[in-house]
Amino acid sequence: MIFIHKGLFLLSTISTLQCAFGQTEITKWQYGKKGAVSITYDDGSINQFLKALPIMNRLNIPATFFINTGQIPGSQYHGKFIGRPVKEIIGETATIPTNKETLFERFSAAGYLGLNSTLQYQTKAGAQIDAGKPEEAYKIIDELYTKVRNDEFLPENTNKNLTNAAMSITWDDIRSYAKQGHEFASHMVTHPYMAGLDETNMLFELEKSREEILNQLGQKYTFSAEGPYGTENERVMEYAHKVYPALRNRMPESFLEELNRASRKDPGVSNKEYAQWQRGATTKTSLPVMKSWIDTTASNNNIWLVLVIHGVDGIGWEALTSESLDEYFKYIKNKDNDLWVATFADATKYMRERMNSTIKSDENRKKITITLACSLDRPMYDLPLTLKTYVSSTWKNLQVKQGNESRIVPPKSDARGKYILYQAFPDAGIIEISGI
Ligand SMILES: [Zn+2]
Repeated sequence: MIFIHKGLFLLSTISTLQCAFGQTEITKWQYGKKGAVSITYDDGSINQFLKALPIMNRLNIPATFFINTGQIPGSQYHGKFIGRPVKEIIGETATIPTNKETLFERFSAAGYLGLNSTLQYQTKAGAQIDAGKPEEAYKIIDELYTKVRNDEFLPENTNKNLTNAAMSITWDDIRSYAKQGHEFASHMVTHPYMAGLDETNMLFELEKSREEILNQLGQKYTFSAEGPYGTENERVMEYAHKVYPALRNRMPESFLEELNRASRKDPGVSNKEYAQWQRGATTKTSLPVMKSWIDTTASNNNIWLVLVIHGVDGIGWEALTSESLDEYFKYIKNKDNDLWVATFADATKYMRERMNSTIKSDENRKKITITLACSLDRPMYDLPLTLKTYVSSTWKNLQVKQGNESRIVPPKSDARGKYILYQAFPDAGIIEISGI
């Protein structure tokens, strides 16, 4: 009996060695982890930086901040209406009701009539457009302009921008946080409902927030964006996808299942290569529920959990407490073995690079030679990928060499044999693995 067992064992060891030796795959997530988590914050409210960011720095995990560039002191671009003189527009509203043709211009001008409190009508109408109820939006815009013509609003409070500035961090602060590894990304210039804007004013929000970030922080931070209010409006998405490579609103990719914040679907059952699972923590979300999202992500292999956080410690929408965030982030950090915590941009880049890369390899008794090629543009797609290569069981001191860089990598083993995990850059020279 013992002999037969031994024989079977030997046989299976040899056959797995024969099929696995020299085989290389790009692991699903960086460092061979089982899932990815991106912690994102919207609106740039001050306690995100004063309270939440130091906790993340202490735990060495990165955040993504979607910021409204117009509210940061020293910004070049602030909210404005680009179009005909508003007096002309106001005049026309007396005789022509708001309809499909006139909506976008009137909506775009609504916050810039030089009057107090008109912006809230734009916001209310925008919510109706996003909800697919344009007729309701027409009514709100008509109500606004009727009141404007009847002189029911006070002149605009000119201190508005000063109040905003006092509540904001500076570009110098942002540059120092970016250096610590955090991502900054566009949440537009003024946080409007984009779906109600005409083409010119929508492009202003998209392009000028990008330009501001480009000038202040550099190209790297022009990758991601989030259209305010989580809009999935198709017209907005069509424009936005031309300006930003990655939107948190929608990410149409054949390999990616998108489960938005309202989705009730279990991400684990998706048959796509990846599932982006967005969860928005609000004051009503209990910590055990928030932790269960982490558990689910760590116990599957295809989930990219995108957490959406707004206010912190009483400032911002649905503010969470920094005590609960501290406990939550520690919980995430404790799952370090299974989870890759990455910025929104890095997680996106990893998936796209992996899905657009090919591996060619060749092996002999002494060496494995690998070519890793990616069809995406560099330098935008500049993230290294994690490769898993099965090596000979007899090799020791495994060395990985790419270009001028070489390193010794400790081996691991699984049911298929001995392997190494290592990072390599696509299109950056041949990778050589040898045992010395
Ligand atoms: Zn927002």
